[in-house]
Amino acid sequence: MNQIIIATKNEGKAREFKDFFLKLNIKAVSLLDMDQKLPDVEETGSTFEENAGLKAEQIASLLNTPVLADDSGLIIDALDGRPGLFSARYAGVPKNDQANIEKVLEELKNVPSDNRSARFISVLAITIPGEQTIFHTGYCEGKIAIKAKGENGFGYDPIFIPVNHDVTMAELTAEEKNEISHRRNAIRQLERWIHNL
Ligand code: IMP
Repeated sequence: MNQIIIATKNEGKAREFKDFFLKLNIKAVSLLDMDQKLPDVEETGSTFEENAGLKAEQIASLLNTPVLADDSGLIIDALDGRPGLFSARYAGVPKNDQANIEKVLEELKNVPSDNRSARFISVLAITIPGEQTIFHTGYCEGKIAIKAKGENGFGYDPIFIPVNHDVTMAELTAEEKNEISHRRNAIRQLERWIHNL
């Protein structure tokens, strides 16, 4: 089976990429699976593209093999796009999903249901050593719930209600989330590239 390196140490993302690629008969290996300890890539970019590119290019040059990286986040209209690029550490360092959720709910406490529109974004960067990095972007539209619900997924899933649903992303099964997610929508655009891997 062919394999691809996923430049992430985020367990939730790694699990989702493994599921996507398994269906295509490709083994996705994340940085969590490697014995070799690789340094954390500093996300110093000012866009999702820049950060995804930094992760894919740095890991590809260290390992000299094709690497896929995802930079993703939650964009909330009533918060002028926050947490956005800072989604992972919105409530501070170290990263804490529960604290991030509480911060968002507190900031939206006076915002009515009609004004809680939001979307997840995933920017994928694929670097093949010696070639130019390519990028694909996927979105998942929805709104922010009044309170957190559900145990599945990761990050902001317990407060994100996808469009055409009345439950949160964390109440969907992994299969259901993986049909509609921002990462899924970005990966769809990669299918031709993946078939040539
Ligand atoms: P990154 O590692 O800088 O790309 O951080 C992405 C952050 O965005 C994660 O730590 C989560 O807080 C949030 N995020 C990205 N994708 C998802 C998702 O599918 N569900 C919930 N939260 C997500």
